[in-house]
Amino acid sequence: MTLRVLVTGGAGFIGSAVVRYLVSEVHAEVLNIDNLTYAGNLESLAPVEGSPLYNFAKVDICDYEAVALTIADFKPDHIMHLAAESHVDRSITGARDFVETNVIGTFNMLEAARKFLLSLEGDQKANFRFLHVSTDEVYGSLGEDGLFEEATPYDPSSPYSASKAASDHLAKAWHRTYGLPVVVSNCSNNYGPYHFPEKLIPLNILNAMEGKALPVYGDGSNIRDWLFVEDHARALHLICSKGRLGDTYNVGGRNERRNIDVVKRICAVMDELRPQNAPHDKLITFVTDRPGHDYRYAINATKLETELGWKAQENFDTGIEKTVRWYLDNEAWWRPLRGDVYTGERLGVLVSE
Ligand code: NAD
Repeated sequence: MTLRVLVTGGAGFIGSAVVRYLVSEVHAEVLNIDNLTYAGNLESLAPVEGSPLYNFAKVDICDYEAVALTIADFKPDHIMHLAAESHVDRSITGARDFVETNVIGTFNMLEAARKFLLSLEGDQKANFRFLHVSTDEVYGSLGEDGLFEEATPYDPSSPYSASKAASDHLAKAWHRTYGLPVVVSNCSNNYGPYHFPEKLIPLNILNAMEGKALPVYGDGSNIRDWLFVEDHARALHLICSKGRLGDTYNVGGRNERRNIDVVKRICAVMDELRPQNAPHDKLITFVTDRPGHDYRYAINATKLETELGWKAQENFDTGIEKTVRWYLDNEAWWRPLRGDVYTGERLGVLVSE
C-alpha cells in the first residue's frame, strides 16, 4: 500500500525538501498544503511536479474548515506539520503573524487531525501519525558548554521561538489529553538549496556573488549547529514513521560553527569558484546585533541516532560548497525573490545593502 502523507508548508525551504524526498525516495503519495506566503515557492517543487504521487492544495492553516475538509478528503496515513512563519527578524517587528500561524494554525491542525482520527477504524486508525516539526530555539541559549537535550527546559527568547514553544506544548497536550498519536522534532539550523535568500547563508552567498556587503551580526561569535536540509528531511520521515508517540526527538548535525566562520567558508568557496573577484572576505561587514540574539545553539542528537539509526551524512564543508554551486547554477530560482528579502532596517540595523 502506498503511504499517504499530508505535508503542511511543503512550498517552504524544509517542507519542499521533505516533499521531494517522500516522492522521489519513499515513493509516498503526498498532498502539500501551503498558502504560499512570501516564503512559499512552488518552483522548489519542480523536481516532483508532474509526478502522479505529488499533489498541491492552496490552504491556509489558519482556516479551520478548509484544513478539516482537506484532511477528511485526502485521508492521510501521516501528517507532517511544517507550515510556519519562520524568520526571527520578521518576528521582532511583526509578531502577530507568528502567533496566528504558529499557534492558532497548529491548534487547527491538531484539532482537525483529532476529528479525522475519530472517523478512522482498524489499521488506518492504528497507523495514523502526526509529526509536529519544531526548532531548537525553544530551548533558549547555551553558554560555552553543554548541549540541548530532549529534556532541556523551554526558555525561548524571540517572538518566533516563543510561538514555536507554544505550538510544541499544544502538540504534546493533544497527545496526553486526547491520545492523538503525535511526535515532536526539534532541529538545529538548516542550510542547503532552495533556502529563501534572507537567511544568513543564502544572503551571504548571493551578496558575495554580486560584490555586495556580507552582513554579520555583532562580532560574528554567535554559534549555530548547522544541518544540511536533506539530512533533516530523512530524519523527519524516520521520526514520523518510527518515533515513539508522545516523545520528542532532537535533530542536529554535530556541526557547530561561529557565524563569522560560516561566512568565511562561503568566501573561501567563492574564491575558488570566482577567483577573479577574490578575496571575497573583504566584503564582510559587522552590523548591529539582533535584540535578544541567542549566543549558542547545539544539539545532542544521540536519541535519534541510537533509537532510530539516523546519522547526518553531509559534511559541513562539502555541504556549503554544494549550496554555493546550487545558487550559482539556479539564478532563475532566486532572482525573483531577491526583492522580498527582509533587510532589517526596521530593527535599526543594516543586514543587507
Ligand atoms: P519557510 O519559512 O521556508 O517555509 C514555511 C512555509 O509555510 C512556506 O511555504 C509558507 O508559505 C508556509 N506557510 C506559512 N504560513 C502558512 C499558513 N498560514 N498556511 C499554510 N502555509 C503557510 O520555513 P522552513 O525554514 O522550511 O521551516 C519549516 C518548519 O521547520 C517550521 O515549522 C520551522 O519552525 C521549522 N524549523 C526550521 C529550521 C530552519 O533552520 N529553517 C530549523 C528547525 C525547525
